[in-house]
Amino acid sequence: MWPLIEAEGLIYIYPDGHPALQGISLRIHREEKIALVGPNGAGKSTLLLVLSGLLRPTAGILRVEGEEIRNWDPRRLRAKSGLVFQDPDDQLFSPTVFDDVAFGLIYRGLPESEVRERVYQALRAVGMAWAASRISHHLSVGEKKRVAIATVLALQPELMLLDEPTAGLDPRGRRELIGLLRDLPQAMVVATHDMRLVAELFPRVVIMDQGRIVTDGPAEEILRDEALLEAHGLEPP
Ligand code: ADP
Repeated sequence: MWPLIEAEGLIYIYPDGHPALQGISLRIHREEKIALVGPNGAGKSTLLLVLSGLLRPTAGILRVEGEEIRNWDPRRLRAKSGLVFQDPDDQLFSPTVFDDVAFGLIYRGLPESEVRERVYQALRAVGMAWAASRISHHLSVGEKKRVAIATVLALQPELMLLDEPTAGLDPRGRRELIGLLRDLPQAMVVATHDMRLVAELFPRVVIMDQGRIVTDGPAEEILRDEALLEAHGLEPP
């Protein structure tokens, strides 16, 4: 069985010359839940942007179900994966919650009845159907995060990419979000500093530092290795 998405030797250099990814190789399988950890500036967000098809890698190979993406046509990647940004205000810009979740579906040209059905399905999955006609910007941070997740869920990606999903949440919002992530069946790559979240939810941990993957393995081994965690600015859960 091919990995859902496979990266080989990915390099990304920002236009100002900063090398953010310096040769990333990673296989993501169906329904696999991976925590991406490492100090600030390690390249985690950049990797999520590349895996979601929003940034074009400077070099390296990306394969979707074994098939290489050539001549930078990111459509196959975008059909498989969806990115939830760290700041929900970057994801929510429509007048109402319904419109925010519907936006990507309308853009894909789906008929109105299907748009409606998918919007409510996604909002129910995150426990936000009650807020469909609310103004997104009036919601709490935790609610906004859940709506931002719904905007991606509605597109039915097989891989969810989430950047710091628990950042800025109060304890209750955090618990609700962990419960939600636990229940989602999709494959997931989650960039986070929240090591307790990692311990609770993720069987596999990838540590990045300075644009490289320094460790990739079972969470129970990695989270026990205090010296390794400390060497990369991380704390045991
Ligand atoms: P992380 O998510 O692990 O904190 P990032 O992917 O945000 O890391 O950043 C990786 C590196 O790329 C950092 O050194 C950061 O300063 C740099 N970087 C991020 N965005 C840009 C940008 N738009 N232009 C230039 N350098 C950037």
